[in-house]
Amino acid sequence: MNPHDFQIVELGDDRLRQVAEAVDLSDLAAALDYAEVMHHWMEQRGGVGIAAPQIGVPLQMMIIASRPNARYPDAPEMEPMLLINPEPHNLSDTQVSLWEGCLSVPGLRGKVSRPDAVSVRYINKEGQARRLELEGFPARIFLHEYDHLIGKTFVDRVVSAADLVTDKVYFEQVMAAPAP
Ligand code: ZN
Repeated sequence: MNPHDFQIVELGDDRLRQVAEAVDLSDLAAALDYAEVMHHWMEQRGGVGIAAPQIGVPLQMMIIASRPNARYPDAPEMEPMLLINPEPHNLSDTQVSLWEGCLSVPGLRGKVSRPDAVSVRYINKEGQARRLELEGFPARIFLHEYDHLIGKTFVDRVVSAADLVTDKVYFEQVMAAPAP
């Protein structure tokens, strides 16, 4: 599969509003081909995660890849991890508010409140059922990507339009401001 036969689907495109279908595990090879395309575009755009609907593929698949970068300097380093048919469980009662961006929403950032921990059941790239406990930034990435699988983006999660800023304002004013 050539990654350039795909592109990142952006906000307003109906494909970001679809609920993704479960991956057919009898054809894992096809899913892994799509995963390579997802990985390509995530790396190319410097993302920390990507979901299949973001390349226009309505399947329940995501890659999470926490790592420190200009936008998230305190993020923990992790190997990119493919989660197939992921299901969140035991969402923490503790909500944390944090600024998010999205490859599908270029130039904008939004302040979104999410649970700070989640446990996840998923299928790994070998087709095996696995369970994973996530907290902090990786939990945030997971929940953001999971939204893509149910037809949502972070823009749907902001409490008010005042919680949306451009990248320019985010870097010049929000990040530069002292932590509350
Ligand atoms: Zn996103």
